[in-house]
Amino acid sequence: MGNRVWSDKKRFIWILSVLLITAFIFTSGISYKVAHDSLSEQISENTLPLTSDNIYSEIQQDLLQPIFISSLMAQDTFVRDWTINDEQDPKLLIRYLKEIQNKYDTVTSFFISDKSRNYYHSTGVLKKVEETDPIDAWYFRVRSLPDSEPYEVNIDPDTANKNQTVVYVNYKVYDFDGNFIGVTGVGLAVERVQKLIKLYQKRYNRRVYFVDTEGVVTLHGDQYTGSQTLQDSPGLEKLATRILTSPSASLSYVRDNKTVYLNSRMVSEFKWYLMVEQEEAEGEQKILNTFWVNIGLGLLVIIIILVIANLTLGRYQRKLEVMASTDKLTGATNRQMFEINFTQSLLNADNSAVPVSIILLDIDYFKKVNDSFGHSIGDLVIKTVANMIQHQLRDQDIVCRWGGEEFLLLLPNVDLSHAADMAERIRETIAQRKISVNEHEIGITVSSGVAQYNPGEPSADLINRVDVALYQAKDRGRDQVVLSH
Ligand code: GH3
Ligand code: MG
Ligand code: MG
Repeated sequence: MGNRVWSDKKRFIWILSVLLITAFIFTSGISYKVAHDSLSEQISENTLPLTSDNIYSEIQQDLLQPIFISSLMAQDTFVRDWTINDEQDPKLLIRYLKEIQNKYDTVTSFFISDKSRNYYHSTGVLKKVEETDPIDAWYFRVRSLPDSEPYEVNIDPDTANKNQTVVYVNYKVYDFDGNFIGVTGVGLAVERVQKLIKLYQKRYNRRVYFVDTEGVVTLHGDQYTGSQTLQDSPGLEKLATRILTSPSASLSYVRDNKTVYLNSRMVSEFKWYLMVEQEEAEGEQKILNTFWVNIGLGLLVIIIILVIANLTLGRYQRKLEVMASTDKLTGATNRQMFEINFTQSLLNADNSAVPVSIILLDIDYFKKVNDSFGHSIGDLVIKTVANMIQHQLRDQDIVCRWGGEEFLLLLPNVDLSHAADMAERIRETIAQRKISVNEHEIGITVSSGVAQYNPGEPSADLINRVDVALYQAKDRGRDQVVLSH
């Protein structure tokens, strides 16, 4: 029976652990996934588009000033008059260009006359623009712009240094009759955009760069370590066409085993794509850490629950075992349990030739106690007697409540004379002691039969002998011990 209870308990603990661990891993997994997905969503739907919007609006602010200055220059009557009057005294125009450059702190200021093809600059006449020179292609492009487009914005990255970039505004100049007479404008450093690229890189670990419609990287921050074209970028090469054919896109790709979120948008003023990238690493790491902390705490809680369950079950189990093997009133061993111990003791005695004795003890005239004081006080007396017996015995002795007020004592390793001594001591203790219940002092005596087990003797015979001895004790006047030889 004990074994079955034990394995039931083990199975219960197992099922409980499996349930708890499964439930726990399941919920942790779900919460990890939810956090992870919402982080991805947050990055691709909010963070990156917001960054992109910011940078976009800063670009427009960067552009507004040079466009305004160039428009003023194109409208300037001095510039137009001077050009119409055959570009006499270049020093005048050169001084004008120098004034503009100083006043607005531009990188450059220029005027190209369509008639002479002279390139005037704040420092002098630079050269003549040539239709055949690719470097001058921009002039002829602006010249052939439709009337609806009075200017062109051109960002020219310094090819040697891609984080030093100049915005050129090339404004068409007309005479007072509306005939095209040249192109003027200024060049301004793209400061705000540069600052933003740096800021986003440093503070938010976002990578910001621009690519042209061919996929060539045209502008980036000083910490940029990527490839020079989208088509060469690991992970991005497959997405290049998609990026370069749509005005804006939100994508993600894998670079160095990390997910990278990417937002691209066309900046129509330059015909460039603004690219903003972010690795999921940082937030991801936090979520992952939280996940592991959760797992750790969860396992701790599970272990605590299991330990508590184990202890509780153990306690409950022991209680059940005690309940199943003892007499409720006296706490003495009950008959079923006693039979097991009894058989075992006799077997031991057979095998190892050690003596074993038993005592059968019965309270004298107990009916009188019941009659005089009532059944419940009778119970109390039985209980007290059981206690007194127990106190006189050793740990290995077993007291069994054999009948109503009869106790059978099993004494391993005890021979007849020793058992007789023990029975006598018990008899004397009980006889001397007055049991006080309420105001009553109840004096009782007990009679005992004592027998030593003869190896090979059937247990029923042994019981019978001790019973006969008890009967003799009663018969001889009670309050005495009789031995069965
Ligand atoms: P004797 O000296 O011959 O043993 O006389 P006795 O009165 O003790 O006689 P016997 O042992 O035959 O009777 C036992 C009585 O104890 C009978 C029963 O009413 C009473 N009894 C048995 N079990 C209990 C019990 O659990 N509680 C109480 N209060 N009384 C019990
Ligand atoms: Mg009796
Ligand atoms: Mg009796």
